[in-house]
Amino acid sequence: MDRPVIDLSDLDDDQRVAATAPRGPVCILAGAGTGKTRTITYRIAHLISQGFVSPNRVLAVTFTARAAGEMRHRLHLMGIGGVQARTFHAAARRQLSYFWPQVAGSLPWRLLDNKFPLVGRAARGVGVESTTENVRDLLGEIEWAKASLITPDQYAERIVGTDRTPPVPAAKVAEVYRRYEAAKTTEEGMLLDFDDLLLHVAAALENAPGVADEFREQYRTFVVDEYQDVTPLQQRVLQAWLGDRDDITVVGDANQTIYSFTGATPNYLLDFPRTYENATLVKLQRDYRSTPQITDLANTVIGQATGRVAGTRLELQGMRPDGPEPTFHSYDDEPTEAREVAGQILTLLGRGVPASEIAVLYRINAQSQVFEQALADAGIVYQVRGGEGFFNRPEIRQAVSELVRVAQRTDLPDDPVAVTRAALAPLGLTPTEPEGAQARERWQSLVALVDLVEELVRAQPDLTLTGVLQALRQRAESKHPPTVEGVTLASLHAAKGLEWDAVFLVGLVENTLPISHAIKAGAHQVEEERRLFYVGITRAREHLHLSWALARQEGGRKSRSRSRFLDGVVPQLEIEKVPARTVRPRRCRVCGGPLSTPGEKVIGRHEDCPSGADEEIFETLRAWRAEASREAGVPAYIVFSDATLMALAEALPADRNELLDVPGVGPVKVERYGAQLLAVIDAFR
Ligand code: ATP
Ligand code: MG
Repeated sequence: MDRPVIDLSDLDDDQRVAATAPRGPVCILAGAGTGKTRTITYRIAHLISQGFVSPNRVLAVTFTARAAGEMRHRLHLMGIGGVQARTFHAAARRQLSYFWPQVAGSLPWRLLDNKFPLVGRAARGVGVESTTENVRDLLGEIEWAKASLITPDQYAERIVGTDRTPPVPAAKVAEVYRRYEAAKTTEEGMLLDFDDLLLHVAAALENAPGVADEFREQYRTFVVDEYQDVTPLQQRVLQAWLGDRDDITVVGDANQTIYSFTGATPNYLLDFPRTYENATLVKLQRDYRSTPQITDLANTVIGQATGRVAGTRLELQGMRPDGPEPTFHSYDDEPTEAREVAGQILTLLGRGVPASEIAVLYRINAQSQVFEQALADAGIVYQVRGGEGFFNRPEIRQAVSELVRVAQRTDLPDDPVAVTRAALAPLGLTPTEPEGAQARERWQSLVALVDLVEELVRAQPDLTLTGVLQALRQRAESKHPPTVEGVTLASLHAAKGLEWDAVFLVGLVENTLPISHAIKAGAHQVEEERRLFYVGITRAREHLHLSWALARQEGGRKSRSRSRFLDGVVPQLEIEKVPARTVRPRRCRVCGGPLSTPGEKVIGRHEDCPSGADEEIFETLRAWRAEASREAGVPAYIVFSDATLMALAEALPADRNELLDVPGVGPVKVERYGAQLLAVIDAFR
């Protein structure tokens, strides 16, 4: 067979040392963007091209199926096919299917892909209410325990001293876990969850010499990417694969450990040079992904880290040519932040940056809603990665069908917001944020939905619940088909290992990043949040925009403060440059009395105080809006709210800058409607 020739000049000297090291243990400990993933891909290609190993004897483990596909693709481009590149779970599933008859004979097994009903039953069995949140949180605990190789008997003891907060007392969790495990052995055979696949593979290799011999004959060379986030269970599998051999290459960055809550730990990575004393150890410093402006910021942020991981600090050295300084922006509220981000994305698109090279990254999935909306309003194609788009999330689907049901009642009060709140209460919309990861995520989505309803009603005060539902449906349907490569919206967790020309890190406020439960849990978890921030910053090649909003809703109380991670990194001047126009009036400019509703604050007076604006201008603007909304095929409130039209009628802006001074008018709207609006208003001057 012709062996492909691998061009090692694509690597720098340090990378080449790792790629060309002889078969045996290799460890690359290096920062973000230094070419770890690239180097292991070349290492695999090199070992194969030199005839040290044949492609089908290599097993490369990556963190996501997407990364595995990417690695296969890159190898393919180098002329190499047949390498197994998989996630731990996918690899284990294949192997178990193959070996099962040898270890379990004819006992049938089936993959249990929905653990929910079994855990629910186990919960009820021990007197725990099987609400969706309880079951999800119990599942989280069971998954963590299994990933950490903790049995039901050990659970209660082992959870002491961790910063986990189980939804019910530990003894109950342990009992649910025990019952869940027992319930998987049924008359018809064995049900195996994803973690069982790993456990069974490890056990088969450890206990059945025939299986181990056959497997180890097949696979000789192992490579693991993102090794800082390996769990004890995955490590056990890896160990079982290896036996007493040592042909293993691992790469990772302890500063990017962001999955501790699932049981992952950077200890195996950090201890690797001690475990394998003959290991080739390579440290990379040159960051080929990002400009020096971005690596400077990344170095500053991670330079403030504390704890074991921080001891591994490496200074990144940006290898790309100089680029723009990262920008920092404070906004009054989330909708404004989202609109401004959409405006900046339009500018980048206008300058020729492809949509697929732009990402908006946030801490929790519930944050996507307001950005999805702003991008859709601006006509920007996007997709949500590593999570469903807002309207496809199970809790939102459930909430919307509940609202549809409620809307059929004839005795409904007038206020759709109040009705929505009441209808969503039984679905998990508690007055304060609940404990438990899943319950929290659900709660956050529901709060985002109520916010959206409030926004709709504010824009159109006579809206009924049926009208609200119609508007929600329109929003859900206005989503672009996911097949088009658009701007990426993703959580920081889902952005791991990826890169874009332009990155917007949004929602950088206390209690979101770091997230509130991390703050409650203490320094350890706050450090993990800092690493998440670092992961976010280091995704950007050239453009990096960081922003936060002081209030959730338009005109709402500015009760938030920007993330502690920005202290000392935000240039003071930038903050002071925050435009004055975003300051909202607190008192009515007609009667001087205090303003209460956000809508009043937008127009700067009480709804029933005389506006002084020419009613005719307002009506003309409304007529113009009706036309514009018909043309664009979007509801009128998406063009401009009544409050904004009123503000326009009163301010009579004469140019684009004055337009921008009107609350509710951002760069996107000016781009789209500015010329038309100025023409309409001009006629009245
Ligand atoms: P992360 O920690 O985020 O996973 P990484 O260390 O795996 O990052 P890669 O994704 O492998 O980094 O590389 C980052 C970028 O730098 C990629 O676009 C890659 O192609 C490029 N790159 C890596 N090494 C070199 C090199 N020697 N010369 C030019 N470009 C390089
Ligand atoms: Mg990588």
